Amino acid sequence: MLQYPELEKKLKYHFGYDQFRPGQRQIIEDALQNRDLMVVMPTGGGKSLCFQLPALLKQGLTVVVSPLIALMQDQVEALRNNNISATFLNSSLNAYQVRSREEAIMNGKVKLLYVAPERLVSERFLPLLDVVKEKVGIANFAIDEAHCVSEWGHDFRPEYRQLISLRKRYPQVPTTALTATATDRVRADIIQQLGLKQPSIHITSFNRQNLYYEVRPKSKRAYADILEIVRENEGSGIIYCLTRKKVDELTFKLQNDKVAALPYHAGLSDEERSTNQTRFIRDDVRVMVATVAFGMGINKPDVRFVIHSDLPRNLESYYQESGRAGRDDEPSRCTLFFNYGDIKTIEWSINQKTDAQEQLIAKQQLRQVIDYAEGTDCRRTIQLGYFGERFPGNCGNCDNCRNPKPVQDWTIEAMKFLSCVARCKERFGMGHIIDVLRGGKTQKIALNRHDELSTYGIGKDKTVDEWRMLGRSLLHQGLIEQTSDGYSVLKLNALSWEVMRKQRQVMIVVPVAEKITWEETSSAKGVEVEILTHRLRSLRKKLADEQSIPPYVIFHDSTLKLMSQVQPTTLTEFGKLSGVGSHKLAQYGEIFLAEIQAYRQEQGLPSDIKVNSRPSSNSPSDTELTTLQLYQQGLSIDQIAKERNIRPTTIIRHLADLIEKNQRIDLSQLVTLEHQQKIWQVLEVLGDIALTPIREHLGESYSFDEIRLVRGMWRREKRSSQK
Ligand code: ADP
Ligand code: ZN
Repeated sequence: MLQYPELEKKLKYHFGYDQFRPGQRQIIEDALQNRDLMVVMPTGGGKSLCFQLPALLKQGLTVVVSPLIALMQDQVEALRNNNISATFLNSSLNAYQVRSREEAIMNGKVKLLYVAPERLVSERFLPLLDVVKEKVGIANFAIDEAHCVSEWGHDFRPEYRQLISLRKRYPQVPTTALTATATDRVRADIIQQLGLKQPSIHITSFNRQNLYYEVRPKSKRAYADILEIVRENEGSGIIYCLTRKKVDELTFKLQNDKVAALPYHAGLSDEERSTNQTRFIRDDVRVMVATVAFGMGINKPDVRFVIHSDLPRNLESYYQESGRAGRDDEPSRCTLFFNYGDIKTIEWSINQKTDAQEQLIAKQQLRQVIDYAEGTDCRRTIQLGYFGERFPGNCGNCDNCRNPKPVQDWTIEAMKFLSCVARCKERFGMGHIIDVLRGGKTQKIALNRHDELSTYGIGKDKTVDEWRMLGRSLLHQGLIEQTSDGYSVLKLNALSWEVMRKQRQVMIVVPVAEKITWEETSSAKGVEVEILTHRLRSLRKKLADEQSIPPYVIFHDSTLKLMSQVQPTTLTEFGKLSGVGSHKLAQYGEIFLAEIQAYRQEQGLPSDIKVNSRPSSNSPSDTELTTLQLYQQGLSIDQIAKERNIRPTTIIRHLADLIEKNQRIDLSQLVTLEHQQKIWQVLEVLGDIALTPIREHLGESYSFDEIRLVRGMWRREKRSSQK
């Protein structure tokens, strides 16, 4: 077996990554020991690698079962771009293509084969697989989206049920099942239906740390808010709407505001849908406005924001849909717009359901979504709690944690609330409890004679909303429970009794009206990095179009960002970046290096020194001194440049650094006083950032040289004032 650090080396060589994501290493080690595996990871967790890397390290063919053609093509493209021999067989191929691919497989030329389940178990295909087994061996069956085997999952596909025949035919070949759905029921079903033998079960946390969660009020300004989010982000985004009509409307508005957006919903023809999807994946357009019909099987890793402009059906859907953001683990944003009108719409449609059980479940799910939207606790705590995962809160990456609202001691109120639940014999939901507390005159109260309870009317001092807020918080904090039979009956637990005995304090978050903003701190370096990343992204797009592949197949956003931060100048340095494997280094290294070089030259940066290498000492270098001497002799900048045979911008750089280093240079000889003042003002506002954004601020009449020189003086002042 491969020991540490061999596996990391292989990871870097084939995929370019430096580190395994949580769980991956352990899973891969188990796979190399030929164990059956059950892998449960959230979207973007990195499931594919868990069978792809073992496939490369083991003898024989790895067969990957995948439900969707688009998914197969995507993965195969990405693998080929890493020079890994992968192929797929599905209905999109003609007979000739199928035959030649089958031949390659039988000759052991393919390491990974993607195939749909119905084809795999067909009478025609199994004999071929027998030959493969004899000639090259079968390393593993990897069953992707394994929840499709379960009727309890959200996407049951009967074809998956036939996969058990593989187990019977090839009992020695290990099976790896992978899924992102997490309920116990589905998990047990997968193990049973696929006939896994003492599988090693891996479940990673469903916490997606890179996602920022926020809920915003859906007011009249909602469209302006959406537009702002779209404009703040350079990357791709998905906007979900409830209906086709809304999709079309919003797309139209965005296009009208010059946003490259396209619609996606069931009302479009197959062809339109698939074209729009491809254009989104290839970064021809930035925004997909869609109904929930869009997204399943979309592997695009660099979706930077997912907006729900309407309330989702339930929390699990919300988690999965918003989870399509940031599969590449880069910071991404999930925004939910919410108002009470939405609730009414959904309630209405629930009431149209004829099946009473279905209606109950839908109502409970709606309550959970509202709970999330109105919640004042950490959004993660609420979401993960729904999946049975305890999260302590304070994530620092949701609106509630970033803009913490004041906390108040509501122990007395909690005691009133809980004892009212007790007096009502734990047989009612929150609405009724609040009615009793507030001394309501409902039929239910009269019928149950709850107006005779000691807790009747003791909560008139608080509004219904305030009591709801308390009730929700008690639920989130686990100080009370709720039945999940659709009726949401409140039940006391051990902690509730501690509160009632005054052994436990109850603090709750009290919201205040304020605008919630999402800000990435943009430092000086940050802006420079952004500008270069933008350039590299354009280059990536050009290269991708030449090959007709999605841009992310070439490099992920995270790798582009690394390039901009590190700004490598040699192939060796370039190869060290995470995301650059051996093959991509050979294929793309030179061209990306050249782009970085060009950028550095335009910025007047030396092409062999790291960016932001600010004068570290206060004494000028030799070359700067030479420039200074000539300058003091009265030569103009162009004359010095000629004399020294270097570019004028370099001379300017010397002078700016000399100014910064406190050498005697009269700035007013170089920049008019008026320009000096203006530039100074902008520096005070924007801080020490790259020249380009400063110039954008100032306008064309200001030159980079002027800005650079004044910046030297400004830096000097800043430094001396810091001492
Ligand atoms: P899932 O199928 O679990 O949703 P994927 O297998 O599509 O996730 O992986 C999500 C993204 O993360 C992919 O683009 C993949 O290349 C990337 N990825 C996987 N493993 C790593 C790793 N160890 N380091 C960096 N990126 C990774
Ligand atoms: Zn939080």
